This record gives sequence, structure tokens and C-alpha cells, in this order.
Amino acid sequence: MRALRLDFDQRRLQLTDHPEPAEPGDGEVRIRLLECGVCGTDRGVAGFEFGCPPAGETSLVLGHEAVAVVEALGRSAGLTRGQLVVPMVRRSCGPLCVMCRAGRRDNCLTGEYVERGIFGLHGYLCEFAVDHADDLVSIPENLTDFAVLVEPASVVEKAWELALRLHPGTPRNVLILGAGPIGILTAWCALREGYDVTVLSLEDEAAPRVNLLRKHGVRYTRTLDGVNADLVFEACGSAELAMAAMGAMRRLAVLIILGARPAEVRLPCLDMIIGNHIIAGSVNASRQHFANAVARLQSYDSRWLAPLLLRLPLARAAETIFAPPPGAIKVVHRISD
Ligand code: BGC
Repeated sequence: MRALRLDFDQRRLQLTDHPEPAEPGDGEVRIRLLECGVCGTDRGVAGFEFGCPPAGETSLVLGHEAVAVVEALGRSAGLTRGQLVVPMVRRSCGPLCVMCRAGRRDNCLTGEYVERGIFGLHGYLCEFAVDHADDLVSIPENLTDFAVLVEPASVVEKAWELALRLHPGTPRNVLILGAGPIGILTAWCALREGYDVTVLSLEDEAAPRVNLLRKHGVRYTRTLDGVNADLVFEACGSAELAMAAMGAMRRLAVLIILGARPAEVRLPCLDMIIGNHIIAGSVNASRQHFANAVARLQSYDSRWLAPLLLRLPLARAAETIFAPPPGAIKVVHRISD
């Protein structure tokens, strides 16, 4: 089958032939991939910043934001043929830690987990995969066109829940750093929950994504001047900007780090102490967050969601991972093309 494979020995990313997965075993299903989105994580893996191939192999099939259809069932797999599904990304550690056993592998304690398309398991920028039915989330038909957003939206749902749980008071103002898919989905989530939302990014004021945010009632800014926030979400990859945004944090405010790359930054400890500030990282998502993401995306008008996606053939994936077309918010690769 065709697959976008990253060769760790030859340091090369290419669309190439890759063996089809074995027949589904007990509880497993074979899925046919329809679409797969790409994100900053794929860029990090393809740039050899993190990620690794499956044990004993030298290359990794990329892709973790997938939509697929169930094609064949192993014994006692609780799904039906033809069902649209989105795979979860992470697979539990073994022997199971307390968190993985409780169904919260997103909070795995050992770090011995694997992740499809990222750490130690092949991903979904390919034609077929086999997964345990329990690792797949069923998608209602009316979400078919936007199911590819379920995985990134699940990450947003986890971060949102965490921020609200950590804030000890009654937050009102939300600041989001970054206007990529995660930033936009976080902004809409906060808007829907009735918060006052500001997105800060470097995008030009005239950029279509800025219009999209403004149209729905989000305030857009390119500077921190005059901004005050109770909940701050870093979704821009910059630790420096996250630290600068701490100057905009009100007392009790919570900062959630989602994508910042490692950097030497100055932590404003005194302000943190005086302000009772909380900084937390958040990664991955539980099954409940996937369910919340499905419900949230279903509640949006398709006119909100359609401009987020740029669909391109799989053949262009090796190129778009490094250089997404200018203006594209979320590049999605159609697997059959
Ligand atoms: C994915 C998560 C994953 C994380 C770290 C993100 O892009 O959405 O599911 O856990 O990367 O590997």
C-alpha cells in the first residue's frame, strides 16, 4: 500500500510502498483510511526533533489525525463494517500504570506508552491500518466532512477542562496565543462557553483566519498591550511568548502550555507567587475528550468549520508537512488521491 514513511536511517520522508497490515485479530478491525490531517507534531517528527519508529524497524509511517471506515472485523470486535471512525493516538503502557488502567492513558505515569504516527507505532498517512476496536471512536454521519478535526479538537477539550479545573475562582477573560487550528478551536470552545476571548498571533490583520475569528466575536491582537486574562492557552509553539503573556495574567490565572518548543526562558517567579498563578502542560486526550470533541464539532455550523480545511492529495504530504501552502489553516490529505 502507499504510505508516507519517514526513514530514520536515510533521514528521508517519502511516499512509498509499505506492507499492508496483517489480518485483524480478536477485538481488532481493519480500517481503510479516508483522510489524515497534518500538524506541528508531524513537522517535529519529520524534522527528527522527537518521535521514533516501531521497535526493530528503521522507519515510521506518519499521521495521527485520521478518519477511516471500518472494512473488516476480527472476532468479537464491537463495531460494524462501514462505520466511520477516528482513531485515538496513544496506546497504553504495559504493564499498565494506574492512569492507563483507569482509561487515562493520556496521563500515563511511566512514559512507556506508544503513539500512532509519533512514538513507536505506524500512523495513518497510508491506505490501511489495523486497530483494536476500543481505540476507535465512532463518528456520526453528519460529522463526516469535519471528522478530521476530532483529534485536534480532543486535545482542546482536555486543555479546556484542565484550565477550568485549575482556576480557583470565576474566570472571565481567555487569551489564546496562536491562530492555528488549535488556537482557533480553543477560541471557539471558549466563546461557546460564554467567555470573552482574545487571540494573539503574528498573522496580518487582513489574513482570512483573522477575519474568521473576528466574524464570530473573537478579539484579535498582535500585541499584549492592554490584555488581561484569567485563562491563557499557549498554542503557538513559543515559550518566549508564553512567558511574556504571563504579564497579562490576572491573579489566580492559569496558563496551559500546549505546543511550546523547549527554550531558555525567564520565569517571572515573584509575579507568579504574588498572583497565585498556575502553569500546566497538557497533552493528548482521553476517550471522554474525544466524545466531547465530537459533540462540540457537531454544534458548529459547517460555515465555521469549512474554511479551516484545505484538502490535498496524499501525494503532496511529504511537501506540505514542511511547507504548508500559505494561508492554509489545516492541511488534510485525501488518502485515495
Ligand atoms: C497529538 C497528541 C500527542 C502529542 C504528542 C499531538 O500532536 O495530537 O495526541 O499525544 O502530539 O505526541
